[in-house]
Amino acid sequence: MIRLAAKESYGSLRDLFMSDQSSEIQTDENRPSPKVLVLFGTRPEAIKCAPVLQELKRRGHFETIVVSSSQHRDLLLPFVDIFDLSLDYDLRIMTANQTPNQILSKTIAELDTLLDMESPQLIMVQGDTSTTLAGAIAGFNRDIPVAHIEAGLRTGNLRSPFPEEMNRRLTAKLATFHFAATPQNRQNLLREMVSEKEIFVTGNTVVDALNSIRHRREPSGQLLDLLEKTEGMKLLLLTTHRRESFRKAMRENLKVIRDFVTARKDTCLVFPVHPNPYVLSTANEILGGQERIFLINPLDYIDFIALMEHSWLILSDSGGIQEEAPSLGKPVLILRANTERPEAVQCGIAKLVGGKPLVLASMLNQNYMVESWIKSVSKVQNPFGDGKAAKRIVDILETLAK
Ligand code: UDP
Repeated sequence: MIRLAAKESYGSLRDLFMSDQSSEIQTDENRPSPKVLVLFGTRPEAIKCAPVLQELKRRGHFETIVVSSSQHRDLLLPFVDIFDLSLDYDLRIMTANQTPNQILSKTIAELDTLLDMESPQLIMVQGDTSTTLAGAIAGFNRDIPVAHIEAGLRTGNLRSPFPEEMNRRLTAKLATFHFAATPQNRQNLLREMVSEKEIFVTGNTVVDALNSIRHRREPSGQLLDLLEKTEGMKLLLLTTHRRESFRKAMRENLKVIRDFVTARKDTCLVFPVHPNPYVLSTANEILGGQERIFLINPLDYIDFIALMEHSWLILSDSGGIQEEAPSLGKPVLILRANTERPEAVQCGIAKLVGGKPLVLASMLNQNYMVESWIKSVSKVQNPFGDGKAAKRIVDILETLAK
C-alpha cells in the first residue's frame, strides 16, 4: 500500500452513522469532521464515485479518504486525473492475470491495515467488483458501516455476470446503507429482506458524471482524426470484455460484426479494446487488418462520450454504457444473455441480443434495412438518473450523521 498524502489520525467516531441521536453535524473545532472512506479500483467505479466525492468535498462536512485498490491500474488512472480524484492511498494490488480470489484477499488485507490507521466512520463502495466486495467485508468485520452505491442490480443468475452478481448480493448482506439507482433496484433489495429504512433511491451517479464531463473540452486530436476518417459512415461502436462473454460467444460475435461491416461499405467499426489479454488477442485475430475496422486503445471519458455521440449503433456487454446511452439517445445492442439493467430495455434504448451470434447477425441486418428503432431512441428519458444522484446521496449521509 502506498500512502499518497499525510493524514491526521482521529479517534474513533464509528457510532456516528449508527446513532439515533439527533443533532447538527458537528463541524466545530472540538470535533473532527466525520471521516468517509471512498473505495474504488476500476474505471466504472471511478466514474461513478467521482460525483459523490466531488459533492462531499464541495460541502466540506465530511473528511474524505480516497482509496484506490488499483484493481485495473492502467485503465483507471486517466479517470483519476480527469475527475481530479486526488488519491490518499493506492493499495496497488494489481498483478498480471490476477484471479478474483487474489484481488479479494489482497484488498481485504491492505484495507484492514488502513482501517486500523484511519478509523473512518463510514466506508463507501460502488457497484459489483471484487474491490466492492472486499470493501464491504473489510468494513463489516471491523464493525464500520458500509454504504453501497448502485445497490440492488440483479440478473437473477448467480453465474452471469460472473462474479459480479454474487459480489452484489454479498455486498447487500454486508452493507448498512443501500443507494439504489432505480425503484426496481429497491424492489430487488426488499425481496432479499433488506430493511426498507436502509434503502434510498437516488438515481445512478453515472448520469451526474456524464453531465459534468460532456462538452467539458474538445475531444483529442486522435479522436477527431478518427471521426474525420469515418465521416458519413454508419459508425458501430463496440466494447466487450466480460468474463462470461469469453471464448465461443465473443469469437462468434466478433466474426458476425466483422462480416457485417466488411460487406457494407457505408459502415465502419470502432472498438476501443479492453487490455485483458484474451480480449486483445481475440480482437486482433478476428478483426485485425480489416478495412473500416478500427481497433484502438481504451479512450478517456471525454473521447469515449464523443465517440458514443457519433455512433450509429452501440454494441456492448458493458453495464455503464447501458446507463449512459439514454442520456445520449444512442441505441445499444446488449451482447449478453441477460441484463441487470432491465430499465434500458424497458425504456427502448437497448435490445438484448441473448448471447446468440445468429440473432446478432439478424438484428444488425434488420436495423440496417429499417432504421426506425435507431431513430426512435434519440429522445428517451434516462431511467437511471437525472444527474442529481450525488447530491441526494450526500444529503442522506448528512441526515444520517446528524
Ligand atoms: N468507457 C470509457 N472508455 C472506453 C470504454 C468505456 O471511458 O474506452 C467508459 C464508459 O463510458 C462507461 C464505463 O467506461 O462509463 C464502462 O466501463 P466497463 O465497460 O469497463 O465496465 P462496466 O460498466 O461493464 O462495469
